[in-house]
Amino acid sequence: MVVEMHAGLASDGGSKLKMLLTFVDALPSGSEEGVYYSIDLGGTNFRVLRVQVGAGSVIVNQKVEQQPIPEELTKGTSEGLFNFVALALKNFLEGEDDQDGKMALGFTFSFPVRQISVSSGSLIRWTKGFSIRDTVGRDVAQCLNEALANCGLNVRVTALVNDTVGTLALGHYYDEDTVAAVIIGSGTNACYIERTDAIIKCQGLLTNSGGMVVNMEWGNFWSSHLPRTPYDILLDDETHNRNDQGFEKMISGMYLGEIARLVFHRMAQESDVFGDAADSLSNPFILSTPFLAAIREDDSPDLSEVRRILQEHLKLSDDSLFQIPDAPLKTRRLVVKVCDIVTRRAARLAAAGIVGILKKLGRDGSGAASSGRGRGQPRRTVVAIEGGLYQGYPVFREYLDEALVEILGEEVARNVTLRVTEDGSGVGAALLAAKNFALYIGSDPTLNVTTFYLMRHPTE
Ligand code: ADP
Ligand code: MG
Repeated sequence: MVVEMHAGLASDGGSKLKMLLTFVDALPSGSEEGVYYSIDLGGTNFRVLRVQVGAGSVIVNQKVEQQPIPEELTKGTSEGLFNFVALALKNFLEGEDDQDGKMALGFTFSFPVRQISVSSGSLIRWTKGFSIRDTVGRDVAQCLNEALANCGLNVRVTALVNDTVGTLALGHYYDEDTVAAVIIGSGTNACYIERTDAIIKCQGLLTNSGGMVVNMEWGNFWSSHLPRTPYDILLDDETHNRNDQGFEKMISGMYLGEIARLVFHRMAQESDVFGDAADSLSNPFILSTPFLAAIREDDSPDLSEVRRILQEHLKLSDDSLFQIPDAPLKTRRLVVKVCDIVTRRAARLAAAGIVGILKKLGRDGSGAASSGRGRGQPRRTVVAIEGGLYQGYPVFREYLDEALVEILGEEVARNVTLRVTEDGSGVGAALLAAKNFALYIGSDPTLNVTTFYLMRHPTE
């Protein structure tokens, strides 16, 4: 991971890790005040947020409306998707009284974007099952701004951020030792604060803080050291983005249930553990990750929840299976075991990725990469983390923690805290929008960074 991070920072296309610039060079510190809005477009869910902050890292008030993204919009047109988003914001604002005048909006967009400023950037490609062709290459902030204007809203995107960056922003707002953020939801990704002089591919990049948040797009991480099973290959073949997002396909919520389903399918073909009723096991994505989690977490002696899920959701309800005494319990135990293995591998890979970032930052206790400052002394390190899989699945969290301690050693691990930032990806974006409000009303605090970069990269 560390090798690939270096390669991705050295040149565009130098690694499967894109190591994208975010143009976020200053993170919220807790002194922000006011009411701000944001939109969080994830892989599965869509959220509109209103956040009221007071000085001293206090979130006075927070309102979140969440809805699933309609499946057809993920494969339709750009216009369809952004109109849906703008309309949702319009409905949300209807009940609000603080919407006179111009409003700055944070837009959390959890897909890889090539940014040229903190408030604009073009979509590199879709991930997580989205495939809307006419969005690729377009400025997604502008797409949303146009849809907002068409809805008659006096709102403009002043911060276009990845979900990892939003999460890091909220983590940092609460705790200034927060140096990285990780998402484990439908997909998986991470970002961290890098020194600008280490971003070789962008020589001359200047920021006031001397650092910039880098969006790793670690879901696309790949290495010949990663053992790949036949099930990983089958899964990859089923997806829209074959040969991409290899790390994500082993770790995140969109895929874990499907990996287990592929294992069950093979078991059904090669043995009679599932009886004659195994037809449904040939349906891709019939087992969702929340069900995989529920199977693993069933601690009833007769695994009754596992039985229920197999019957109701996998339609393994043929009598021939359940009439045989003991065989079903044996089968259910096997099913639990498979879900356990898939979960454990995912959690351990995510933990290894986190250690990779800590290593790059010289905070993994090895000392070799330390930049002198604080060498030898354990430094407190906070990693902000969120996502439906991580937050909703305790066994996953346990395995991840266990692996972190195993790799770092107990002493170093004691200084590393994973902190869940509830709705951080959206709230953090609202806080960054607040920071960039000046973008909207004229004076541009980030102009220095942006122009400096553009001067050296005129083609962008
Ligand atoms: P996004 O922001 O990408 O839309 P979320 O962070 O809301 O996604 O996470 C949603 C994903 O998390 C779902 O696709 C699902 O796979 C996974 N998930 C949600 N709840 C659970 C749970 N209880 N156990 C395991 N996975 C879960
Ligand atoms: Mg999300």
